[in-house]
Amino acid sequence: KEESGLLLELVEVKRHFGGIKAVDGVSMQVLAGHVHGLIGPNGSGKSTLVNVISGLYAPSAGQLRLRGEDLPKGSLFKVSRAGVARTFQNLQLFAELSALENVMVACEGAYRKSLPLVLLGFAYGEEHKAQADALALLELVGLANEARTKAKDLPYGAQRFLEIARALARKPKLLILDEPAAGLAHPDVLNLIEIVRKIRARGITTILIEHHMSVVNEVCDFVTVLDEGKIIAQGLPDDVKRDPHVIAAYLGD
Ligand code: ADP
Ligand code: MG
Repeated sequence: KEESGLLLELVEVKRHFGGIKAVDGVSMQVLAGHVHGLIGPNGSGKSTLVNVISGLYAPSAGQLRLRGEDLPKGSLFKVSRAGVARTFQNLQLFAELSALENVMVACEGAYRKSLPLVLLGFAYGEEHKAQADALALLELVGLANEARTKAKDLPYGAQRFLEIARALARKPKLLILDEPAAGLAHPDVLNLIEIVRKIRARGITTILIEHHMSVVNEVCDFVTVLDEGKIIAQGLPDDVKRDPHVIAAYLGD
């Protein structure tokens, strides 16, 4: 099921907070199968933009379309139903549940009702499938050996990767990762790069917010650069990092 073409389209999207123009007329296209980098200095509007895409905030103006259909506005639940999953800058794990359970509770539909059984240690039929799928996702993020470990007992980097597995459990068309490398030690940054590549290999489209140009260079097919709520450059990572506007914006950061 190779998908191609335009997945997400934003037209003149704005989100203002009182007098603050956090996102100020952003038009961009995310192609299916791409890892689309979203970069820019602190306060440039990256999180606000993905908060609008994912439905946490309603846009002040503009259009958002996923595969040509209008995305629901201002509803995390409805946008998630439409096929968009995200991680947050703050971790959202269930501390007392195991890594496996954390992935399973993130699953939708049929898995929901089977979770109580799974937590009690029963796994038949559909429950078994749910467990197998969750384990496969833990494997993808390098946590297969930690399936039974409580989330609170995992190291910080592993907790971040568990969040990614939870987002993938929703089987999204579009995955949004907001600064997944934040606070990671170097070996985990390398692990993260590997995970993003595996997600791409599965055909899942990703918007990756990232502060480090090196990570962007390693994994992104295309990059959009924001500054003060507006796009100041777009293109291939190699071209964008040489763009004088981008260099100037980062020097001022
Ligand atoms: P980034 O993620 O690029 O660092 P943000 O999107 O978090 O930037 O912030 C962009 C601007 O919007 C900042 O000036 C920030 O203070 C402001 N902002 C973000 N969220 C809110 C909010 N909920 N209320 C008021 N201002 C906000
Ligand atoms: Mg942010």
